[in-house]
Amino acid sequence: MTRTRLALGALISAAALALTGCAASDASSVSWHGPSSGVVDGGEGGGTQAHPISDSTAQAATGAGKPSASASAAPSASTSASAGPSASASATAPSDGIMRTTGTDGVALTFDDGPSADTPKLLAMLRQHNIKATFCVVGVAVQEFPQYLQEIVKDGHTLCNHTWKHDEKLGKKSADTIRADLQRTNDEIRKAVPGAQIKYFRHPGGNFTPAAVQIATELGMVSLGWTVDPSDWNTKKWSGNQMTQHIISNVRNNTKPGAVILSHDGGGDRSATLAAYKTLLPELKQQFTLVALPV
Ligand SMILES: [Zn+2]
Repeated sequence: MTRTRLALGALISAAALALTGCAASDASSVSWHGPSSGVVDGGEGGGTQAHPISDSTAQAATGAGKPSASASAAPSASTSASAGPSASASATAPSDGIMRTTGTDGVALTFDDGPSADTPKLLAMLRQHNIKATFCVVGVAVQEFPQYLQEIVKDGHTLCNHTWKHDEKLGKKSADTIRADLQRTNDEIRKAVPGAQIKYFRHPGGNFTPAAVQIATELGMVSLGWTVDPSDWNTKKWSGNQMTQHIISNVRNNTKPGAVILSHDGGGDRSATLAAYKTLLPELKQQFTLVALPV
């Protein structure tokens, strides 16, 4: 059921693919600098061209994922179910295999590039509001902060593999290289938390390739995109309180039932993100059902 609904959500949001894909496509010139460098992450939309999803694009993408209000989940589930045998094979998405909505009315907060020194602050806020989220973690960051990964799991959040060291070009490399990177990351996660469930994979920059999606699938992971991107990684464009206000307004304006919201708890100074979510968490909780992605 859950997977069927996921399939539907992914299908509905297929139109968003190209949009989010473009946000990531020019990120190649920016590299991830690691959890402790203090250098700002190129982020999921990263890149020197500062070409994230624009507000209007994000709205379009979100709109695509939200057919018509809350009634969407049920009818779409049945539609998907009627697809028959092929439904399970395409459980994550019919076109490119990337899941971009929750497939239900639930809204998923996703935090990338950690864990980092800021992660405990975010976890404390989530705990305060009893909100579960999903963390797309980087192998080297897990290696540096295993205790924070343990806290993430202990608090009941969902894990997502975000590659070993945030290689935004990983998907274009050989299958063996991709597989080794993803496996190494999962191994590091399970070194910190034995038996950890890792059901999702998010390519750095959103630069998914068919090979990366396929290998993730082989490793038991669903490729995870997003529908709302407040571009909190783009500290060249916004900073300080301006960034905080940008994140708040972007998330407020674009979040709809079924949305997957992309933000960052690692990869750079995340104080603006933390400040934004201090305001956003109670608001979002009041308006939506906030869910950790199912494992
Ligand atoms: Zn990232």
